[in-house]
Amino acid sequence: MSQNFETVAIHAGQTADPHTGAVVPAIVNASTFKQDGVGNLRGGFEYARSGNPTRSALETLLAAIEAVDLPQNEQRSVQAFAFASGLAAEDTLLHAVLSPGDHLVIPDDAYGGTYRLVSKVLAKWGIEHTPAPVNDLAAIEAAIQPGKTKLVWIETPTNPLLNIGDIAAISELAHRHGALVAVDNTFASSFLQQPLALGADVVVHSTTKYLGGHSDVIGGALIVKDAKLAESIKFHQNAMGAIPGPNDCWLVIRGIKTLSVRMERHVSNAKQIVDFLVNHKKVAEVFYPGLPSHPGHEVAAKQMKDFGGMVSFRHKEGELAALKMIERTKVFTLAESLGGVESLIEHPARMTHASAAGSPLEVPKDLIRLSVGIENIEDLLGDLSNALG
Ligand SMILES: *Cc1c(COP(=O)(O)O)cnc(C)c1O
Repeated sequence: MSQNFETVAIHAGQTADPHTGAVVPAIVNASTFKQDGVGNLRGGFEYARSGNPTRSALETLLAAIEAVDLPQNEQRSVQAFAFASGLAAEDTLLHAVLSPGDHLVIPDDAYGGTYRLVSKVLAKWGIEHTPAPVNDLAAIEAAIQPGKTKLVWIETPTNPLLNIGDIAAISELAHRHGALVAVDNTFASSFLQQPLALGADVVVHSTTKYLGGHSDVIGGALIVKDAKLAESIKFHQNAMGAIPGPNDCWLVIRGIKTLSVRMERHVSNAKQIVDFLVNHKKVAEVFYPGLPSHPGHEVAAKQMKDFGGMVSFRHKEGELAALKMIERTKVFTLAESLGGVESLIEHPARMTHASAAGSPLEVPKDLIRLSVGIENIEDLLGDLSNALG
């Protein structure tokens, strides 16, 4: 019988060390491995860019947690690859599946770093792209150039407006046109959303966020179930070399063990904060897929286990009032990033999305984004209430 998420997250890739009985994977800092005769490798390791035992433990774990919702006979074919950052994972994927002259469709509100990688780096190498709203199937279909579009990129929920894309419907559409589908699953995390089971070909993570979960490591991952695609990504992972070190892998492993309990608390805190904000007289609009009024609510309810820990809202009194509020919080820390145990608050227009000013990705100036942490809810509500005044 296949195990449930909470169990898999603690045990996959974590069998006790055969020599010492250690219940936690060792941090193996070796860059090279002794061969018992030329090419006769112990455990398959030869040089640590190609493979390292700590990274292998993480990759086994990542594959297992992203495969939980798949039928049991498909779970075994899932493979994961760890990278030095989310963007390193994305860059490696884009090199593996695209060639000069190819085209991809990306959300018109994709993560800023993804948009920058595609529009400022890969465009120079002859890879073309068209932005389309992730919540508009007809617009995505119109953006697909049959024969030329090799990849449809999905991010859901998006950042910072929390738009929702229908992973199953977009996958069906993209596959009909011969394109692969990659889903950036960073905002939902593997616990709340399982894109491979919904029809996606590749799952992308910035493990820096919820998977790591403690704001103490930068990392990324790609997870696939097709053997050919896995082989190509493995080749490019080694050939391009953007791999994480063993210490970073270990931190992500440790984070994943508590992912389920952390996500449950992130979600319950976020929901109570949404209730508070919706009823606050200084709040103009709240963006959260759990709200029945959110345009993506039904799709999110269908494809996510719950609605996540990210909340955005607009301050009724404009940008300056939003900035003042952000600087007044004491429990919410003013910082970029998300997905850690500590609550963070930020101003997307001047911080995470500053580079989008004047572009189609520009966000409202009175927008405030919260990464709701796992502190006590009364303390979080009190902090927001004081800061809003
Ligand atoms: C942070 C983030 C990335 C990039 O990951 P890094 O680890 O910072 O390179 C990609 N996608 C999303 C949705 C993110 O939040």
